Amino acid sequence: MSRLDNFISRMTAQRDILNQICPEVAKMEGLVLELGLGNGRTFHHLRERLPGRRIVVFDREVGAHASSIPEAENLVLGEIRETARKFIGIDAALVHADIGTGYDDRDAVTATWLPDLIARLLRVGGFAVSGTPLDHPLLQRLPPPTSEPADRYFLCRRV
Ligand code: SAM
Repeated sequence: MSRLDNFISRMTAQRDILNQICPEVAKMEGLVLELGLGNGRTFHHLRERLPGRRIVVFDREVGAHASSIPEAENLVLGEIRETARKFIGIDAALVHADIGTGYDDRDAVTATWLPDLIARLLRVGGFAVSGTPLDHPLLQRLPPPTSEPADRYFLCRRV
Protein backbone atom coordinates (compact mmCIF):
# COMPACT_ATOMS: atom_id res chain seq x y z
CA MET A 1 0.00 0.00 0.00
CA SER A 2 1.39 3.43 -0.89
CA ARG A 3 1.92 6.00 1.85
CA LEU A 4 -0.89 8.06 0.34
CA ASP A 5 -3.31 5.13 0.47
CA ASN A 6 -2.21 4.37 4.01
CA PHE A 7 -2.72 7.99 5.07
CA ILE A 8 -6.21 8.11 3.57
CA SER A 9 -7.10 4.84 5.29
CA ARG A 10 -5.82 6.17 8.62
CA MET A 11 -7.72 9.45 8.30
CA THR A 12 -10.90 7.59 7.30
CA ALA A 13 -10.62 5.39 10.39
CA GLN A 14 -9.87 8.45 12.54
CA ARG A 15 -12.96 10.29 11.29
CA ASP A 16 -15.20 7.22 11.53
CA ILE A 17 -14.19 6.60 15.13
CA LEU A 18 -14.58 10.24 16.17
CA ASN A 19 -17.99 10.43 14.48
CA GLN A 20 -19.14 7.28 16.23
CA ILE A 21 -18.11 8.25 19.73
CA CYS A 22 -18.96 11.98 19.75
CA PRO A 23 -22.67 11.36 20.43
CA GLU A 24 -21.64 9.18 23.41
CA VAL A 25 -19.21 11.82 24.62
CA ALA A 26 -21.93 14.48 24.30
CA LYS A 27 -23.99 12.57 26.89
CA MET A 28 -21.08 12.48 29.34
CA GLU A 29 -19.64 15.14 31.62
CA GLY A 30 -15.99 15.98 31.31
CA LEU A 31 -13.39 17.80 29.26
CA VAL A 32 -12.19 16.74 25.86
CA LEU A 33 -8.39 16.66 25.56
CA GLU A 34 -6.77 16.88 22.13
CA LEU A 35 -3.15 15.68 22.32
CA GLY A 36 -1.46 17.07 19.21
CA LEU A 37 -3.00 20.11 17.53
CA GLY A 38 -0.98 19.82 14.31
CA ASN A 39 -2.88 21.51 11.50
CA GLY A 40 -5.97 21.62 13.73
CA ARG A 41 -8.17 19.45 11.51
CA THR A 42 -9.34 17.05 14.20
CA PHE A 43 -9.68 19.91 16.71
CA HIS A 44 -11.93 21.66 14.17
CA HIS A 45 -13.92 18.43 13.69
CA LEU A 46 -14.37 17.84 17.42
CA ARG A 47 -15.44 21.45 17.92
CA GLU A 48 -18.12 20.98 15.26
CA ARG A 49 -19.29 17.63 16.64
CA LEU A 50 -19.27 18.68 20.31
CA PRO A 51 -20.62 22.23 20.34
CA GLY A 52 -20.19 23.97 23.68
CA ARG A 53 -17.83 21.34 25.08
CA ARG A 54 -14.52 22.60 26.43
CA ILE A 55 -11.66 21.14 24.39
CA VAL A 56 -8.16 21.59 25.80
CA VAL A 57 -5.46 21.18 23.18
CA PHE A 58 -1.79 20.29 23.66
CA ASP A 59 1.20 20.67 21.36
CA ARG A 60 4.80 21.82 21.37
CA GLU A 61 3.91 24.79 19.22
CA VAL A 62 1.06 26.26 17.21
CA GLY A 63 1.22 25.23 13.55
CA ALA A 64 -2.51 25.09 12.84
CA HIS A 65 -4.61 26.79 10.20
CA ALA A 66 -5.90 30.13 11.47
CA SER A 67 -9.46 28.76 11.59
CA SER A 68 -8.44 26.00 13.97
CA ILE A 69 -6.50 27.60 16.79
CA PRO A 70 -7.95 27.16 20.28
CA GLU A 71 -8.50 30.12 22.60
CA ALA A 72 -5.42 30.85 24.73
CA GLU A 73 -7.02 29.39 27.88
CA ASN A 74 -7.56 26.07 26.10
CA LEU A 75 -4.09 25.76 24.58
CA VAL A 76 -1.23 24.13 26.47
CA LEU A 77 2.21 24.37 24.89
CA GLY A 78 5.15 22.13 25.73
CA GLU A 79 5.96 18.44 25.86
CA ILE A 80 2.71 16.53 26.35
CA ARG A 81 4.37 14.04 28.64
CA GLU A 82 4.97 16.90 31.09
CA THR A 83 2.15 19.37 30.39
CA ALA A 84 -0.72 16.86 30.42
CA ARG A 85 0.42 15.43 33.73
CA LYS A 86 -1.03 18.53 35.40
CA PHE A 87 -4.48 17.39 34.20
CA ILE A 88 -4.29 13.94 35.80
CA GLY A 89 -7.53 13.28 37.71
CA ILE A 90 -9.53 15.71 35.58
CA ASP A 91 -11.97 12.92 34.57
CA ALA A 92 -11.94 13.73 30.86
CA ALA A 93 -14.74 12.27 28.73
CA LEU A 94 -12.50 11.91 25.67
CA VAL A 95 -8.77 11.97 25.04
CA HIS A 96 -7.77 12.02 21.39
CA ALA A 97 -4.07 11.48 20.78
CA ASP A 98 -2.73 11.91 17.25
CA ILE A 99 0.97 12.01 18.01
CA GLY A 100 2.25 8.98 16.14
CA THR A 101 5.24 9.66 13.89
CA GLY A 102 5.23 6.70 11.51
CA TYR A 103 8.65 5.70 12.88
CA ASP A 104 8.44 2.52 14.96
CA ASP A 105 11.37 3.40 17.22
CA ARG A 106 9.96 6.85 18.13
CA ASP A 107 6.43 5.53 18.61
CA ALA A 108 7.82 2.79 20.87
CA VAL A 109 9.17 5.50 23.18
CA THR A 110 5.78 7.25 23.22
CA ALA A 111 4.16 3.90 24.05
CA THR A 112 6.17 3.78 27.31
CA TRP A 113 4.26 6.79 28.77
CA LEU A 114 1.18 7.67 26.69
CA PRO A 115 -1.20 4.80 27.68
CA ASP A 116 -0.67 5.34 31.41
CA LEU A 117 -1.07 9.11 31.05
CA ILE A 118 -4.34 8.68 29.13
CA ALA A 119 -5.67 6.16 31.66
CA ARG A 120 -5.09 8.76 34.40
CA LEU A 121 -6.72 11.58 32.44
CA LEU A 122 -9.96 9.76 31.63
CA ARG A 123 -13.06 9.24 33.71
CA VAL A 124 -14.35 5.69 34.04
CA GLY A 125 -16.34 5.04 30.85
CA GLY A 126 -14.49 7.78 28.97
CA PHE A 127 -13.04 7.18 25.53
CA ALA A 128 -9.47 7.15 24.24
CA VAL A 129 -8.95 7.52 20.50
CA SER A 130 -5.38 7.22 19.28
CA GLY A 131 -3.21 6.87 16.24
CA THR A 132 -0.97 4.48 18.14
CA PRO A 133 -1.99 1.41 20.18
CA LEU A 134 -2.76 2.00 23.87
CA ASP A 135 -1.78 -1.09 25.82
CA HIS A 136 -2.89 -0.61 29.40
CA PRO A 137 -4.97 -2.74 31.80
CA LEU A 138 -7.43 0.16 32.37
CA LEU A 139 -7.94 0.84 28.66
CA GLN A 140 -10.21 -1.74 27.09
CA ARG A 141 -9.72 -1.93 23.34
CA LEU A 142 -12.96 -1.72 21.34
CA PRO A 143 -13.45 -2.73 17.72
CA PRO A 144 -13.24 0.41 15.59
CA PRO A 145 -16.54 1.28 13.85
CA THR A 146 -15.03 1.56 10.40
CA SER A 147 -14.55 -0.50 7.29
CA GLU A 148 -10.83 0.28 7.47
CA PRO A 149 -8.41 -2.32 8.87
CA ALA A 150 -8.40 -2.45 12.68
CA ASP A 151 -4.79 -1.30 13.05
CA ARG A 152 -5.26 2.08 11.36
CA TYR A 153 -6.60 3.95 14.38
CA PHE A 154 -7.44 2.78 17.87
CA LEU A 155 -10.44 3.09 20.17
CA CYS A 156 -10.45 2.24 23.88
CA ARG A 157 -12.75 2.76 26.84
CA ARG A 158 -11.53 3.46 30.34
CA VAL A 159 -12.65 0.66 32.67
N1 SAM B 1 -4.78 15.67 14.53
C1 SAM B 1 -4.04 16.81 13.97
C2 SAM B 1 -4.82 17.38 12.81
O1 SAM B 1 -5.89 16.83 12.46
O2 SAM B 1 -4.39 18.37 12.23
C3 SAM B 1 -2.64 16.41 13.54
C4 SAM B 1 -1.72 16.16 14.68
S1 SAM B 1 -0.04 16.04 14.12
C5 SAM B 1 -0.01 14.48 13.34
C6 SAM B 1 0.83 15.73 15.60
C7 SAM B 1 1.14 16.97 16.42
O3 SAM B 1 1.50 16.53 17.72
C8 SAM B 1 2.30 17.81 15.90
O4 SAM B 1 1.90 19.14 15.76
C9 SAM B 1 3.39 17.67 16.96
O5 SAM B 1 4.07 18.89 17.22
C10 SAM B 1 2.60 17.27 18.19
N2 SAM B 1 3.33 16.40 19.10
C11 SAM B 1 3.74 15.13 18.86
N3 SAM B 1 4.33 14.62 19.94
C12 SAM B 1 4.30 15.59 20.90
C13 SAM B 1 4.76 15.66 22.23
N4 SAM B 1 5.37 14.63 22.81
N5 SAM B 1 4.57 16.81 22.92
C14 SAM B 1 3.94 17.87 22.32
N6 SAM B 1 3.47 17.85 21.06
C15 SAM B 1 3.66 16.73 20.37
